[in-house]
Amino acid sequence: MIKTVKSVDLKGKRIIMRVDFNVPMKDGVVQDDTRIVAALPTIQYILEQGVKSLTLMSHLGDPSKDAKKAQEKAEKDGKTFDKDTYIKGKHRMAPVAAYLEKKLGKPVIFAGEDSCYGKKSFIESQKDGSVIMLENTRFHKEETAKEPAELDKLAKELATYGDIFVNDAFGTAHRDHASTASIAKFVPVSVAGFLMEKEVNYLEPIVTSPQKPLVAIIGGAKVSSKIAVLESLLKNSSALVIGGGMAYTFLKSQGHKIGKSLVEDDQLDTAKKILDAAKSANVQIILPLDHVAATSFDAASAPVPVDGLDLPDNLLGLDVGPKTIEKYKEVILIAKTIVWNGPVGVFEFDAFAKGTEEVAKLVAEATNKGTITVVGGGDSVAAVNKFGLASKMSHVSTGGGASLELLEGKKLPGIEVCRG
Ligand code: AMP
Repeated sequence: MIKTVKSVDLKGKRIIMRVDFNVPMKDGVVQDDTRIVAALPTIQYILEQGVKSLTLMSHLGDPSKDAKKAQEKAEKDGKTFDKDTYIKGKHRMAPVAAYLEKKLGKPVIFAGEDSCYGKKSFIESQKDGSVIMLENTRFHKEETAKEPAELDKLAKELATYGDIFVNDAFGTAHRDHASTASIAKFVPVSVAGFLMEKEVNYLEPIVTSPQKPLVAIIGGAKVSSKIAVLESLLKNSSALVIGGGMAYTFLKSQGHKIGKSLVEDDQLDTAKKILDAAKSANVQIILPLDHVAATSFDAASAPVPVDGLDLPDNLLGLDVGPKTIEKYKEVILIAKTIVWNGPVGVFEFDAFAKGTEEVAKLVAEATNKGTITVVGGGDSVAAVNKFGLASKMSHVSTGGGASLELLEGKKLPGIEVCRG
């Protein structure tokens, strides 16, 4: 169990809260406010408790990494590049503070400029109940430092801004950073917000004690990025659906012809081992039984149905076919818990989106029948949004990397600091 804001008395306290406002930005305009909206219930609850101040902090992008890439591009194009101007133009929290102010219907005071240090007296000089937002925490290299002493330097400073640390940044819970975890060492009380609580309450039981039968649907491009999650989910699943590009490495490891499909030859042994482990554990593995293929990886490629496991040399599999969908239906509709991470086809191309859309529809149908359904991971979340089915799932995770690591059975630093 994690401790939440509900378990502590917030009245008259200074709150320092980590949120995940790492939202996509273009020309200083927020492009998608999902993460901001997701933090609102906790922010509103805290303000209703009559706190002295609520100071919010987040990272936005990865300033040094983004600047390095932009510099390389500018050099290639023969253009001049000023790192400072680039970072200040792209990574400031001020536009996010302004956006939150509109959503909240209450002033959000931006503590800028450029630094998260030295803001204690500024925060304490605001009137009771004020909402303050700090500058991008990743403007400081200490935020992501490897050395504990470096992390602590920023963490100690941030800790002076609050009597209670609230972590609601699930999307960065897998990061051992100054503002996500180290800060908890220097604040007397650390608790989770409602978003963090909801994410943990849905994702953790899948690994520890799911309502069975559990069906795991794992898709996406690469086996290599999903090995740990496959191994972890094998323990409790009755069926494991393996779809998407990664399915072809599994099919090849069984001796099937996969044509020009995506394959990771260095993962063939791993794929075989996972299949063997599933067999020993009595877990049903569902690989594609038929395909929708194409001659090239292209949205304009004509879809070619392939009715069978093997693909001809000139084709690559980009989606699953109708037989496979029928098989999915069998297992999905008898599950008590379903976890889904990764599309089963190239859903971004309309001609190859049907398999993923049918999975989304089946999982929605299962939710309606009382099954606990959890969608975790960036691309399957994008898929359920594309098909307008996000609201039909029990839970759609806001954290890609964090949800994957929780499903892998790992302990996440940003969650551990909120344990009672
Ligand atoms: P991941 O980030 O590993 O979950 O991978 C998601 C990506 O896998 C999406 O962009 C899909 O287009 C891609 N994908 C799904 N099925 C296939 C396939 N059969 N071949 C190549 N890529 C695929």
